[in-house]
Amino acid sequence: MSGLAAATQLTQRGFRNLTIFEARKEAGGRTRSYIDPHTSDTLDNGQHLLLGCYRSTIEYLQAIGSDALLQRTPLSIRFHEAGRETPAIFQIPPDSQPPVNLLAGLWSSHLLTTREKYAATRLGLAMDTGSNTERYDDMTCQTFFATQHQPDALIAKLWEPIVLATINAPVEKASAVLFINVFREAFLSGREASELLLPSVGLSDLLIDPALRMLEKSGATIRLSTPVRAIELQNGNFKIVTDDATEAFDTVIYCGQSSDPLPLQVRSVIPDFEYSPIVNAYFWLDREILSTPVHSFMGTTLQWAFPRPSEGFPQRLALTVSAANALVEKTNEEIRHILWTDLCAAIPTVREVRLMHHQIIREKRATPLLTPSVQQSRPQASTAIPGLFLAGDIVQNGLPATIEGAVRNGYAAARAVMNP
Ligand SMILES: Cc1cc2nc3c(=O)[nH]c(=O)nc-3n(C[C@H](O)[C@H](O)[C@H](O)COP(=O)(O)OP(=O)(O)OC[C@H]3O[C@@H](n4cnc5c(N)ncnc54)[C@H](O)[C@@H]3O)c2cc1C
Repeated sequence: MSGLAAATQLTQRGFRNLTIFEARKEAGGRTRSYIDPHTSDTLDNGQHLLLGCYRSTIEYLQAIGSDALLQRTPLSIRFHEAGRETPAIFQIPPDSQPPVNLLAGLWSSHLLTTREKYAATRLGLAMDTGSNTERYDDMTCQTFFATQHQPDALIAKLWEPIVLATINAPVEKASAVLFINVFREAFLSGREASELLLPSVGLSDLLIDPALRMLEKSGATIRLSTPVRAIELQNGNFKIVTDDATEAFDTVIYCGQSSDPLPLQVRSVIPDFEYSPIVNAYFWLDREILSTPVHSFMGTTLQWAFPRPSEGFPQRLALTVSAANALVEKTNEEIRHILWTDLCAAIPTVREVRLMHHQIIREKRATPLLTPSVQQSRPQASTAIPGLFLAGDIVQNGLPATIEGAVRNGYAAARAVMNP
């Protein structure tokens, strides 16, 4: 996403002679889709949520001509729990501005007790009015919630699912600053910011292939299956070393997460970090059990479910588990069993349904684990070497590793190229 955002931005500003190197045989990195041979459905490498606050992503989609493939809908989440007959609904009314719409959603929901609603309101308003976040730089979300006197049950029901879904890290590891920034952008920055943007196509058709077509049309060269082994400085230019050739360029934007190909002088700017995995499952069912777009699950390994379109089956569910360290090394059959058991426990009618087909997708390196210390040491787009810029979701922007963060960083790198 970051490389394509930078390249399309530069192309739009009249830059020519761009070359894009991609190590894999297909473009898209962590946002891509493929056809499931058994069902012919287009599957994403994992369910991705896009929100109305993804302003750079929307600009990118407009630039590549695929913004019409998104449908906007007000945020509405069903919270399921074993033993609870009907799910609690949390929805943000579409007709008022923040924070009124958020408060209306919170107070009309049966998800929280009155005490929890007061505590959530207090935290929401504190995040609305508080300006700088520096004093939270060293805090995890867990510490932040404790300092804000948030009850454990409220954290488990509301805050933790948001942290997992947006930062892909458990509350005891996730940077508090990222949570505050996400909350402000998604829930406090405008009426449309919290809306869901639901794509009618797979991620490759939405975000990747139209960008590749645009770039090829403008004369860019796209080299797939061409890992960059080294970026070397020579006489004020850069030598890009691949397995087959060495080519010279005057400007380089590097979007990979490994510092290996970088010149020695800039290698150390990419901090050491762990990756946080995400496990996704697609379940094809012989009847529809969920009709609304977003479902959260409490007290189970299963965290989220999203009904997705299917060519030949009454329902396809995308099930996701973020920060899935406990799941990622299990076998497909073990993962299927755990998620199916969770689904049956939370929604009793599922027991009458037949699971017709399933697919498990593990993304072991889904996102960097953004702890407070990693968050504080993310690199900037500009490096110590003129002409060499960094992009990718690891670059500092105050946001978690997301599509929006990657696009913003691609745009920031393109701006830095234009105004060094
Ligand atoms: C399962 C899953 C679910 C997610 N859910 C969401 C979500 O709901 N919402 C959201 O906004 N975000 C989500 N994300 C995060 C989002 O996908 C990423 O943050 C974003 O795609 C990162 O884009 P990027 O360009 O920074 O990196 P990448 O997508 O990793 O792109 C980097 C590219 O560079 C290539 N590359 C690396 N090194 C080299 C080299 N030396 N030479 C040549 N090529 C190289 C890689 O092959 C890759 O194609 C999710 C991610 C996953 C995996």
